[in-house]
Amino acid sequence: MGCLLSLSNPLRQFFFPLVFFVFFSPVNGKDNLTPPSFTPINGDLYHSSGLLMEEISNLVHRHPDKFTMETIETGNQGYKAEVTVVTYCRNRKEIDDRSKFRILLSFGQHGRELITSELALRVLSVLSEEQFLPNMDPISLNSTLDKLVIKVVPMENLNGRKLVEAGELCERRNGRGVDLNRNWSVDWGKKEKDYDPYEENPGTAPFSEPETQIMRKLSISFDPHIWVNVHSGMEALFMPYDHRNTTPDGLPSQQMRRLLEELNHLHCQDRCMIGSGGGSVGYLAHGTATDYMYDVVRVPMAFTFEIYGDGTASSKDCFKMFNPIDLTTFNRVLNDWSAAFFTIFKMGPQQLQKKHSKPSTTNSEKWVSIDEYLDGYLMERRNRYGKKVEVLEFGMQEIRTYFRLFMLSSILLLFMFCSRISKSKCSRPIVAVMPI
Ligand SMILES: [Zn+2]
Repeated sequence: MGCLLSLSNPLRQFFFPLVFFVFFSPVNGKDNLTPPSFTPINGDLYHSSGLLMEEISNLVHRHPDKFTMETIETGNQGYKAEVTVVTYCRNRKEIDDRSKFRILLSFGQHGRELITSELALRVLSVLSEEQFLPNMDPISLNSTLDKLVIKVVPMENLNGRKLVEAGELCERRNGRGVDLNRNWSVDWGKKEKDYDPYEENPGTAPFSEPETQIMRKLSISFDPHIWVNVHSGMEALFMPYDHRNTTPDGLPSQQMRRLLEELNHLHCQDRCMIGSGGGSVGYLAHGTATDYMYDVVRVPMAFTFEIYGDGTASSKDCFKMFNPIDLTTFNRVLNDWSAAFFTIFKMGPQQLQKKHSKPSTTNSEKWVSIDEYLDGYLMERRNRYGKKVEVLEFGMQEIRTYFRLFMLSSILLLFMFCSRISKSKCSRPIVAVMPI
């Protein structure tokens, strides 16, 4: 329906849903010819995309000490997209300080999931200290936030969102029909038996879409410690992998799970599903952002949150299925999940630090091959400077070769030096230098 063609005009916001409601009046349950009724966007609860971005922009301008904002635009084949990124750092001078803990949050990757962008606004309002969370100690909050740089993408899929506002309430893809959460390169393009292009079209190639290109560049240059891709449709806390029904092995995986369990307990009343996206959601998803963040950008904690879903809604009733429709639920979702993000801000860095303070291995230090050493060294470098992986592979080979040559020439020099000395002074009888 064309309910929200121009969202700055409140009359249209209400006129079109009304017209639709009249034409497709509620089903009496018997007449198969009557299209199923569905719920229009609730303009009392939800901002239009334009108003939401305007509110965020005003908020940023009211707090220039804490926030900066940039809009990145790109396009191809006549299709243009823009992604706005808000950066939070309590002391703006430290925005590029790489010792800070970095968090990247994306909302609104799917057009129909309006509630997620409302949550972005709420999180930013709390960060601005214009709104407060109950039971939050301001001193501990400030000391937590001092150590962080947080980048928030409030509406990753603005073009798709506009289609939803124009009446395509079930649209999740971008402005030209590509699912932005299938357009990444990890296991891209694989199609399951129940593949539905209306839902999951992965595009013509990995990163064919301007929105994904922007997000990829942003993630590689920012090199976050935590990534959260916020969605709706169910209540779940997912970790990698989406394209397999297993989670990765090892410590990072345990750390992710531990954090998710804590969040589930504190903020989801243990209702949320936890685990790998592919293992829990009932289908495998290929080419997703979170799998790329974990596998390629090497974000140690990469998550997908599903913050709300109405399982009782008809599958055609998308606004109701993906978004709370009454004030109480709307507020409950925003309160619970904004609190969850502040728990992440506090606990995420603590969880990851545990890895660095692991027991010392001085007594049982094992010999490490040059290759192993360099792998570790380069991973560190990559994590700090966000070098691209392709460049990394090439650089690794080069450095290995130089290192080997260096070691070889050092050994030769040492050998020559020693043999010279042994001919002159070293030939003296060795006297034990022991005090009597
Ligand atoms: Zn989604």
